[in-house]
Amino acid sequence: MSSALAALRRDFGGDIIEPNEADYEAASRTVLAAGSPAVVLRPSSVGDVQAAVTVAREAGTTLSVRGGGHGFAGFGTSDGGVVIDLGRLASVEVVDEERHIVRVGGGATWGQVADDLAARGLAISSGDTRSVGVGGLTLTGGIGWKVRKYGLALDNVVRAEVVTADGEVVLATAEENPELFWALRGGGGNFGIVTAFDFVAHPTTDVFFGKISFPAAEAATVLQGWSDQFRTAPEELTSNIVFANPFLGGPEAPVEVLVAFDSDDPERAAQAIDPIRSLGTVLDDDVALTPYADILEEGMIPPPGIQFLARSAFVDADSAPKVLQILAEVGASERSPIIALRSVGGAVSSVPEDATAYAHRAAHLMFLTTTVGPRPVIEAARPALDDIWETLAPHVTGAYANFLTDATEREVAAVYPAETYQRLAAVKQRFDPDNLFAGNLNVRPSIR
Ligand SMILES: Cc1cc2nc3c(=O)[nH]c(=O)nc-3n(C[C@H](O)[C@H](O)[C@H](O)COP(=O)(O)OP(=O)(O)OC[C@H]3O[C@@H](n4cnc5c(N)ncnc54)[C@H](O)[C@@H]3O)c2cc1C
Repeated sequence: MSSALAALRRDFGGDIIEPNEADYEAASRTVLAAGSPAVVLRPSSVGDVQAAVTVAREAGTTLSVRGGGHGFAGFGTSDGGVVIDLGRLASVEVVDEERHIVRVGGGATWGQVADDLAARGLAISSGDTRSVGVGGLTLTGGIGWKVRKYGLALDNVVRAEVVTADGEVVLATAEENPELFWALRGGGGNFGIVTAFDFVAHPTTDVFFGKISFPAAEAATVLQGWSDQFRTAPEELTSNIVFANPFLGGPEAPVEVLVAFDSDDPERAAQAIDPIRSLGTVLDDDVALTPYADILEEGMIPPPGIQFLARSAFVDADSAPKVLQILAEVGASERSPIIALRSVGGAVSSVPEDATAYAHRAAHLMFLTTTVGPRPVIEAARPALDDIWETLAPHVTGAYANFLTDATEREVAAVYPAETYQRLAAVKQRFDPDNLFAGNLNVRPSIR
């Protein structure tokens, strides 16, 4: 490794950060995971990424690719491996004014994108948090405040520039390398490093956004009524629910319904949001017209030693009543995880099932359970959590890749149904036959 690094130093325009250097400690960890990599390479150009991939491949150690560093499974760092941190590839450039095509560096964060586009009155369907990376979120989904109107983040990608395992730069579009283009939209970091994404952005106005809270005791009716709204709600309306948050009182915590109505028309916003207000006793309602870039929140950085255990699944409209009944009961118990639900459907469901490698188009809702604490607390919580998920299992499908801490074969199978997996494995065989990019929900190359 040291001779490879010495050679790399000659032409590398980015940062090469080794143990004992001033920046090492910060560079070695991600938002949710600690690590002690042999080196962190922070490329500043596509050529640097090619050189970094070559060094990693030749080193034969674990390769971690880091975008915004928010991955739940902590694949953005390792002990003893090579980290390629894309944080310096963070440009945001409008490359086609007429079609609103925006080229975004593979290491940008959604806050940077939202700020840069705000001045032009544009936005990209993304997530809800500023510090989350464009790379990780987009490659396996992207469920944010514009999801029901404009689809997942990945539905808005029209081109990707990728450095593959052999260090080559390839482009993926509907016409060029179409199978790679299909696989990148859902298949995660399995196929290479995306140095730039081209997205279709959409004109945005200020939006109606805020939180409406209800008493915990009304959770069951609020959840059911909320879900029913989304059978007919306009696509401008996207909403999340969070309850049973132990930091706000656990089973006594208010049911917080966050709403985003993607328009500045007060009458249409009221028409869509008032039915949610009428679901129960409103404790708090701060919905107001807000610039889109301002509704993305600052991500919470947990203190060292605090970990997350997140599991997720999708729910179809017919199963929703049963699932919501179970979740309301779980939330009322002392040891409940934090429960969060997100409305999907809308534009997500309009995309054909086989158009991308995201395999959960028919879902009405997505939800996750999150346990937070030091490792012993997390481990102690696992058996009860397994019981909860066993009760839910007959009524839910799949898993949302972006909200999973574990990345075993169970999760891979939940994210990628067999047909999707096989098609991904064929793309993997072509672009990464030696599985260099294994730090993810791993798709193994197909053996032919
Ligand atoms: C506070 C918080 C809020 C969140 N909110 C949302 C939300 O609203 N909606 C939602 O859908 N998800 C959300 N997520 C989940 C988020 O989408 C995932 O954690 C995602 O993996 C983060 O991407 P990242 O680039 O920041 O993470 P990283 O840990 O850097 O990346 C995760 C993995 O993605 C791959 N990767 C990243 N960038 C690239 C690239 N350019 N090329 C190739 N591979 C790459 C690598 O395999 C990497 O290990 C949230 C997560 C957190 C912690």
